[in-house]
Amino acid sequence: MIKLNNVSKWYGQFQVLTDCTTHVSKGEVVVVCGPSGSGKSTLIKTVNGLEPFEKGEIIVDGISVGDPNTNLSKLRARIGMVFQNFELFPHLTIRQNLTIAQVKVLGRTEEEATERGLKYLDRVGLLAQKDKFPGQLSGGQQQRVAIARALSMDPIAMLFDEPTSALDPEMINEVLDVMVGLAQEGMTMMVVTHEMGFAKKVANRIVFMDKGVIVEDCAKDEFFTAARSERARDFLAKII
Ligand code: ATP
Ligand code: MG
Repeated sequence: MIKLNNVSKWYGQFQVLTDCTTHVSKGEVVVVCGPSGSGKSTLIKTVNGLEPFEKGEIIVDGISVGDPNTNLSKLRARIGMVFQNFELFPHLTIRQNLTIAQVKVLGRTEEEATERGLKYLDRVGLLAQKDKFPGQLSGGQQQRVAIARALSMDPIAMLFDEPTSALDPEMINEVLDVMVGLAQEGMTMMVVTHEMGFAKKVANRIVFMDKGVIVEDCAKDEFFTAARSERARDFLAKII
């Protein structure tokens, strides 16, 4: 479903990604972790073309992301992305936040979009909030709306970049629970997170990055019990 082959990227002179190779198969959950500044956000953003890369190849559902002929907006419409800071439109109601891209990008009618959006809003337990504005919801609720919004687009895969790191501790689980549910239903997911409880529960594989390099890419159990690199073991010792 998602394949990265020897992806390298530079910000000016600074090489932020070096020969990154990994994949996410259909229905798989891959957790990406590593120290701050190791390139996790950059890596995940290259997958849906939000960040260009200079070397290597990324294929998503058979489409080459780096190919100048690829219609990136079309590709992005099929990949759900959830960021740290929710990124809901503050001046639109929750219902409008859920429908706008469905109507503008997918060409659905307002009615179809509303039906779909509210179905997912119900799924994340927030149907009653549909007429509120984002600012009237808690951070955890806003993040669940962001997930419902992404799901309303019928994505073939979901990318998450530290979806719980801006939340107060008591709100982290309500968001993780939604993500665990998605994983258990077979959604293909690439998740940057330091929530190792989540990783232990649903990840198939763990990618550990350090200084722009994928240092480990292995099955979850192997990562937690027998990480090969000292850097990964150090990292685990600090966060668990
Ligand atoms: P964090 O855990 O703090 O979110 P990260 O692993 O997601 O870190 P990135 O945000 O991908 O790391 O950044 C990797 C490196 O690239 C960092 O050294 C960062 O300073 C640098 N960087 C990120 N964005 C840019 C940019 N637009 N221009 C120049 N350097 C950048
Ligand atoms: Mg980041």
